[in-house]
Amino acid sequence: MVDAIYEKLAGALNARSTSLPSIICNEFFDFISCLYTPEDAAIYVAMPLGLSAIQDIAENLPAADLQKLAHDLEIMEDRGLVHIADRDGVKLYEGLPLIPGTVEFHMMRGIVDERHKKMTVLMKEYQRAIGKTYKSGNPPQMQKSAPGRTVPIDREIDPRTTIVPYKELKELIMQTEYISAGTCVCRHEGALLDKPCTKPVNNCMLLGESAIFSVNKGFARRVTRDEAVQIIDQAEAAGLVHTYAYTTGDYFKPLCNCCHDHCAIMRSARKSPSPGTMVIPRYLLEVNNDECTSCGACVSRCQMEALKMVDGILTRDEHRCIGCGLCMWACPTEALTLKPLPASKIPLTS
Ligand code: SF4
Ligand code: SF4
Repeated sequence: MVDAIYEKLAGALNARSTSLPSIICNEFFDFISCLYTPEDAAIYVAMPLGLSAIQDIAENLPAADLQKLAHDLEIMEDRGLVHIADRDGVKLYEGLPLIPGTVEFHMMRGIVDERHKKMTVLMKEYQRAIGKTYKSGNPPQMQKSAPGRTVPIDREIDPRTTIVPYKELKELIMQTEYISAGTCVCRHEGALLDKPCTKPVNNCMLLGESAIFSVNKGFARRVTRDEAVQIIDQAEAAGLVHTYAYTTGDYFKPLCNCCHDHCAIMRSARKSPSPGTMVIPRYLLEVNNDECTSCGACVSRCQMEALKMVDGILTRDEHRCIGCGLCMWACPTEALTLKPLPASKIPLTS
């Protein structure tokens, strides 16, 4: 009976999720029941896709009491399961995807306790179960472009993570009114699994409405633009790749600072023969060998192993470069520049 509602929840999550498919297996039930009670699951299943009025949710719940439902939804929002938006004084509700969404909100607080440890262990076991389905040649179907986000006509959202060099990221920060920062989800998972990262951890940022939501609910803290720039300065110095993830809805617009040790996307990209196909590069690094002194300082900065010194000459592998610009930070000359790719013409915040 309990598993039946979690099976329905899997379907409702799959209709929204862009990164973590929900597949029916014991590992899924063990993991998902850490986040949703059966009552939460029933409400989530009743929620139409995108923002909707409480009456539309209640229609799918036999004999629902509107006042109690509103109260339950507020508690679910406090736990990062749903987002409540105010539209001209009217409350509208949407169920959040698992990733990016509910899992991040749980982790951004940076809490280290037995519950978060258990949840992280169970999530890893579930991810391994998903991995087995890929190995068996029968991978789960992923939602490529989830509903609920307003997009320009004739454009499909590419769910891959976008790589954003420092200069462009700083411009984005300087244009943004409200920014929040919390604990890096991936490195916090590492800490919970006794594999802590040596890189800075308080640098997972959200922008705009998602930042307001995260601060109001205590998932993250508000930071000024200057503080946000300090955070990316520190991340840049530590050799972290700045990324921005397109998401559905306004609840989650994350700016991450990633390392290949703890970020699954960066790890997969690094393992791939063509990291640039696993993410969205906006630029490609160009080397001016006339300006290069072959000091080698840039080589170890590259997380994708795209730079090599061959017979004293710096070479860049265009299939490995993701255009993050981290190598430029180390260069004492003007030898490295970023050439814009077509993706750089797409506004980051649209
Ligand atoms: S070569 Fe430079 S720009 Fe390209 S991936 Fe490596 S560090 Fe980033
Ligand atoms: S850091 Fe600059 S000068 Fe040194 S090897 Fe790299 S490109 Fe050449």
